[in-house]
Amino acid sequence: MVARIKKTAARAILDSRGIPTVEVELETQNGCGRASVPSGASKSSFEALELRDGGKKFFGYGVSKAVASVNGIIGPKLRQTAFSGQTDFDEFLISLDGTKNKSKLGANAILACSMAFSRCLACESGTPLYASFSKVRRYCLPVPFFNVINGGAHAGNSIAFQEYLIAPVGAKTFAEAAQYASEIYHALRGLISRQFGRSATNVGDEGGFAPPLSDVATPLELVSRAIGEVGLQGKVSIALDVAATSFFDGKKYAIGGGKRLGPGEYFDFVEGLAKTHRIISVEDPFCETDFAAFSKFTRENKAIQVVGDDLLSTNPVRIARGVRTGACNCLLLKPNQIGTLAEAVRAANLAYGAGWGVMVSHRSGETEDTFIADLAVGLGCGQIKLGACARGERTAKINQLIRIEGELGSNGKFAGREFHRPARQLGFSL
Ligand code: PEP
Ligand code: MG
Repeated sequence: MVARIKKTAARAILDSRGIPTVEVELETQNGCGRASVPSGASKSSFEALELRDGGKKFFGYGVSKAVASVNGIIGPKLRQTAFSGQTDFDEFLISLDGTKNKSKLGANAILACSMAFSRCLACESGTPLYASFSKVRRYCLPVPFFNVINGGAHAGNSIAFQEYLIAPVGAKTFAEAAQYASEIYHALRGLISRQFGRSATNVGDEGGFAPPLSDVATPLELVSRAIGEVGLQGKVSIALDVAATSFFDGKKYAIGGGKRLGPGEYFDFVEGLAKTHRIISVEDPFCETDFAAFSKFTRENKAIQVVGDDLLSTNPVRIARGVRTGACNCLLLKPNQIGTLAEAVRAANLAYGAGWGVMVSHRSGETEDTFIADLAVGLGCGQIKLGACARGERTAKINQLIRIEGELGSNGKFAGREFHRPARQLGFSL
């Protein structure tokens, strides 16, 4: 199929933090697609460049330069070219930008085009978006990892760890997983309210609660108690995104309450915490440059999924290094860290090739765009990180997955306890 772009339009809209982001609309002969891009708060140093205006307007966070990249440079070129598919389209944008980190046109401008084009292609072929990533007979619905307590860069409290997540691995369907999460979320609200007062039930950037704590263990106890209160022990597990770079000063990890641990002591601390609380998945337990600590942790904790986010940054060079050194066993896949869909899918395939898991992820600054829900189903990765089961920009993705599950009927299967094994290892033919 050859797709010709007839119309292009870009604009600045607001994300869930009230900060501008880029939205793009494309029109082809028989299709159209609109997409908007998310934005991180705890970004790694290795991500593709998100182009911001600087200056006074929007405190420097404006995206008029990125919008101008689409309306003034990318759009006119796209309208002169025919594309044979997603890879062709994305490679065209990569070479039009010509920089290593997409700093000329902006990864925010480029990814919005890439995603909008993907929707055009799905329209052209008359298939749902998830089906444009893989055409299989049976699809895998991902286990949602819901962030119910927020700390780190996502909250105004003093919890050093960024995300305390619940993973309803024992649910039978995605819809049941959402039900479990909702029950636990509200039980947790009650617990926090009784213990710290109602003002402590205010939420952080991803919709999880942000109680006024300054140690990293108490949130784990609260989440465990909430799971127990609604009778879901054994069906719902706990996971962490430590985001350790944010509290490492180059020498020590500041874990809260004035405690600062050197790398060796901190390693034992994190490992002990993970074992005590039977954590099934730990993301970024160490600073983003410490491949050696990641490798040791992964080697010594074979039962735990170790996820590389800041460490790998969805970047093929860093993923290759991660594979070589055995630094983790799961890639956190954030399309905006690399800047095009074709590169994001390639990153997933690199991880699959190493026998790793892949967890598709939102960002802390999100829009109502549901793209990642379809991406996770299409890639058959078995797991997705979505924030809390509350707030519109988070529920948009959850509700899209509920819709997809309903639409697939018996052609869809919830990954459940097999979440860490890519779909093709589960017998899905991706
Ligand atoms: C994360 O660190 O995994 C995350 C979702 O946060 P951010 O988008 O702020 O990087
Ligand atoms: Mg992370």
